[in-house]
Amino acid sequence: MLPFLRNDLVELAAYKPQLGIGVASQISPAPTQSDKLDTNESPYDLPIALKEKLAWTYKELIKTNRYPDGGHSLLKQAISEYINESANLSSNVFVSNNISLGNGSDELIRSILISTCLGGNGSVLVAQPTFSMYGILAQALGIPVVSVPRNSENFEIDLQAASEAIAKTQKPPIRTVFVVHPNSPTANCLTTAELEWLRSLPQDILVVIDEAYFEFSQNTLASELSQHPNWIILRTFSKGFRLAAMRVGYSISHPEVTAILEKVRLPYNLPSFSIAAALIAIQNRSLLLECVSQTNNERLKLIKNLSQYSEFEIFESAANFVFLRLKTQLGEEKNTALTNLHKELKSSGTLIRLTGGGLRITVGSPSENVRTLERFQKAYNNLEL
Ligand SMILES: *Cc1c(COP(=O)(O)O)cnc(C)c1O
Repeated sequence: MLPFLRNDLVELAAYKPQLGIGVASQISPAPTQSDKLDTNESPYDLPIALKEKLAWTYKELIKTNRYPDGGHSLLKQAISEYINESANLSSNVFVSNNISLGNGSDELIRSILISTCLGGNGSVLVAQPTFSMYGILAQALGIPVVSVPRNSENFEIDLQAASEAIAKTQKPPIRTVFVVHPNSPTANCLTTAELEWLRSLPQDILVVIDEAYFEFSQNTLASELSQHPNWIILRTFSKGFRLAAMRVGYSISHPEVTAILEKVRLPYNLPSFSIAAALIAIQNRSLLLECVSQTNNERLKLIKNLSQYSEFEIFESAANFVFLRLKTQLGEEKNTALTNLHKELKSSGTLIRLTGGGLRITVGSPSENVRTLERFQKAYNNLEL
């Protein structure tokens, strides 16, 4: 390797971006024809009326020769209204100085790591399986990642292991704990015991609560945030708001935390077009979020249908995906069987994720879900169980 590159980055397994879909061939060379149910995107594009609004904004208001609004002022204001409304809080609880915007919440995760752990200041704690970007971004910054397991039945974090990890991790100590509410890939919300544990963590540890799937779960810790200056909530426009292409995420936190995140981010992290898209989405939220209940209904159907396979265990979900795995008594052939199933679904045209010892399937459109079940049946018939 070239001698000026960091050695530890050779070992780093990067996030593998999936092939884009529905993108004009001028933009992406080989858009896949498959049902793309592997990245938990919404199956629904922005309604055409809103796309036209956005196109109008682009044509009339955005000057491509000018830098974007680096302070994101209008968007922050609109988002704080949405947060207060969605957590039934009065309109002045969260305001612009509680909000920071990122190029996807991925950027915010990195800003958090820079703000808390970089330079030997801290390690991060995660419970596996969980969203992979926490570990990947931490490693890219040379930040140690401490992993603890989850209960194998309900995926609750092994809280004893987590407390022990915090007690014994010294150089550097745990500064940041990442949890997802509901977790990906296992789809479960934080339990009462997990919440109690998060409330009990000392003030010198930042607790990151990733609510990427809030629009589906309607479960938020926003109303408790003001009591915990060491908590930060992450949300994204990539899932329920149907804007994965635009790369907009936001954080909600104590103003002091927000101020630091604002310092460490790139000055013009959001393109003007993305700012305009997020603004239109949030202003038209009741229209856009109508499809959330359809997705939740489709999820129930998927769960009900997949429950018929007695060799599989399928879990309750509070998000736009479902998680299933083979029952444990099947022993060692389990992984081969899952790998084969995943492969066969892929070659029949349904992309899902093989992760966390199971399969994670995004809830798609009704016709995609019908195909998922048909193809699953076929692949299942070919399995040797
Ligand atoms: C999808 C997802 C995100 C969103 O990432 P963006 O960068 O905003 O697209 C964040 N956290 C979790 C757990 C996710 O599943």
